[in-house]
Amino acid sequence: MNVLVMTDIHANLEALEAVLADAGAWDELWFLGDAVGYGPDPVACVERLLELRPTHWLAGNHDWAALGRLDISDFNPDARRAAEWTRRQLSPTLVEALLACEPRADVPELDLCLVHGSPRHPIWEYVLNAGVAHENFEAFEASLCLFGHTHVPAIYSEGVDGTLRLPFPPDEAQFTEPDARWMVNPGGVGQPRDGDPRASYLLFDTETRALRLRRVAYPLERTQEKILDAGLPPRLAARLAYGW
Ligand code: ZN
Repeated sequence: MNVLVMTDIHANLEALEAVLADAGAWDELWFLGDAVGYGPDPVACVERLLELRPTHWLAGNHDWAALGRLDISDFNPDARRAAEWTRRQLSPTLVEALLACEPRADVPELDLCLVHGSPRHPIWEYVLNAGVAHENFEAFEASLCLFGHTHVPAIYSEGVDGTLRLPFPPDEAQFTEPDARWMVNPGGVGQPRDGDPRASYLLFDTETRALRLRRVAYPLERTQEKILDAGLPPRLAARLAYGW
């Protein structure tokens, strides 16, 4: 089965459509959370997800913020303004769709754990280094965990050499070694933060356990224009161009 794995769309419709066009045909879509927040198209993005019917559709902290399920006093001012603006855009139907999502899904039949942030703190924690990854390997059973939230593509492995951060190979990474476990982040669709502005996502073959990282350019000037037209903080438009 071919799976399209996406996370952190952040109401960026142009990036979402570019990913869908690039990915081609897939059997299942798994979405790891943060459909909304920051970007100018929360309604169109949630409606598009409803059409696409993800097999797994997780909640992220920005989704919960827009729903009022999370205290946003810790958000930076730009994120807070965007969350309040997003809350005003969502219809009751879309609110209901987002309320149905949880931030973690365990899929033992595929030996997988899916989370937005981290296995031990699915809504909040950022896994940005091997130390934090190491502590999180204890918080799930499966051999592979797919996570989002940082908007940075990453592979962490845990095995005889301890916990390591590994580079993505140019073609595909395969996760079949019997004594190792992995945590893998597809990077962000709608607001990448690794210095590369292109949308980032994964294709996963559940039979071979092979993962391919894909990057795809999208017309981000259009998204920037919409952010400014909506009266959202200009910094949210600027950051899309430098992938941060
Ligand atoms: Zn996010």
